[in-house]
Amino acid sequence: MEMKMCNCFKWDKSIIHIEGAITLAHVHGIEYQGYPFKYCPWCGKELIDTNSNSPLVTCWCGKPISELTHEELKSAFEELSKLYLDKEKDIDSVRRFFSA
Ligand SMILES: [Zn+2]
Repeated sequence: MEMKMCNCFKWDKSIIHIEGAITLAHVHGIEYQGYPFKYCPWCGKELIDTNSNSPLVTCWCGKPISELTHEELKSAFEELSKLYLDKEKDIDSVRRFFSA
């Protein structure tokens, strides 16, 4: 089955923990028996194919980037910068967030 994903910040920040738990369960022979996610559990948007080339982040806390207030945009940028700079990702990831 095709892996699906969301392009919101919360997905980025949270899914690694779920994937880690699933991998750990797998090595113990435990298979996931439930239904797959259809919508992002954090922002509620429908999940997209992992090979989709849509922008990295298009919403923040369920709100489209274009509708964010100055304060929300500022805190979104701070958190996102921290995330990407911590992971030593290139600054283009952060720029793409604003061009979304
Ligand atoms: Zn999402």
